[in-house]
Amino acid sequence: MTTTVRTPTRRTRQSDDDSRARLPALSALADDALAELVGTLGEPPWRARQLRRAAWQPFVASLDDIRQLPAGLREGLAARLRFISAIVASERLADRGTTIKLLCGLDDQLTVETVAMESPPRGGSSRRATVCVSTQVGCAIGCPFCATGRMGLRRSCTPAEVVDQVRLAGQALHRHGLGPVTHVVYMGMGEPLAAYETTVASLRALAVHGGISPRRITVSTSGVVPSIRRLAAEGLPVTLAISLHAATDELRDRLVPINRAHPLDALVAAAGAYGRVTGRRLSLEWCLIGGVNDGLDQAAGLVRIARRLRAHVNVIPMNRIEGSPWGPPPADVSRAFLRHLSQAALTVTVRDTRGGEADAACGQLRASLEPRRQLRPDGTLGPQRSAQRGPDEIRAPAGRDSGRRPPLGNGAQLPRADQGSEKRRERAHRGA
Ligand code: SF4
Repeated sequence: MTTTVRTPTRRTRQSDDDSRARLPALSALADDALAELVGTLGEPPWRARQLRRAAWQPFVASLDDIRQLPAGLREGLAARLRFISAIVASERLADRGTTIKLLCGLDDQLTVETVAMESPPRGGSSRRATVCVSTQVGCAIGCPFCATGRMGLRRSCTPAEVVDQVRLAGQALHRHGLGPVTHVVYMGMGEPLAAYETTVASLRALAVHGGISPRRITVSTSGVVPSIRRLAAEGLPVTLAISLHAATDELRDRLVPINRAHPLDALVAAAGAYGRVTGRRLSLEWCLIGGVNDGLDQAAGLVRIARRLRAHVNVIPMNRIEGSPWGPPPADVSRAFLRHLSQAALTVTVRDTRGGEADAACGQLRASLEPRRQLRPDGTLGPQRSAQRGPDEIRAPAGRDSGRRPPLGNGAQLPRADQGSEKRRERAHRGA
């Protein structure tokens, strides 16, 4: 008897893919549903827990890799569920191999960006590996300085797709000798609080199944006020990062269009309530755009809001995106803006976007993982730090400046006269 082996045609491969896509993904199954599935295959419920634990191991990339499960169970599961709901469509390394940029392919051929980055131990803190996830394909908010906003919204991700971005990133880190994942930031494509159910369900899954505490997770928002208030009541103490970018309604209506529905007063009130309910420190994100929001009037407004919220401030010089007339401010304007913040003794971090790689989708996604510098009380920038470390910065103590004047991102130096006297620094800190 002869056996004819057919090379699958494109159509049969497509229909195989389609039928697999119809299987539920492991991350989409609740614990009781998974236990029931394992039960139908003749195995006790603890096998479901064993499977779930193993699936989060970064060296496990398929059901076949889970050798502690009996072969029959693995085969039965493979016919009934998918190990993961997304695939790595492309992978790029940056920052001398410590940053991995993934394009994750979803079932409907759409893609989202996910970034994983490892930062070395510093001082008393241990090594971190942070994953930045996308919650939507595109975004409906339409911030004019953001490439993702220009796409419009295609759809929100499912909770499983967000969770599986973290699993894929964990596997990618492991392949490159990095990881495991310690922190997650929701700062990729999309507005996480516009995909509220996805965001909350994935936060719970990351905690319960992935072992990533909400305290190690940051969720960014452009200002979906009702959802900020709702999130405060979820019992999930994640850090909230407000994408502020403007300190007056007039300007913010243009830069972050959701401000027309939820103006600054309402946003600041909701953010303050979030901080009080959760006990978490807030973070304010400020994409510094030349000639747009780099004036001292805006800096003064930012200081007022940051003080009221006792928030950390992240300043991100804008990256140019194709077709946009906007870009980062000239060096002297940046210096004046930053000096104003430093004199107000805010806790400020400046992200060094280094101007390259215009292909990234969301300004927030990139900025969250770019090297960063802490703003010193005298208005100078500290040495470059290689990774996202969350908003829990420690304010640089007054009088500890070594006298060195590190360059700004573009290599410019602050003049000596701009460094301020010791007295002024102390005054500024007392006023904090
Ligand atoms: S900056 Fe964020 S909220 Fe604004 S359009 Fe881009 S992805 Fe959406």
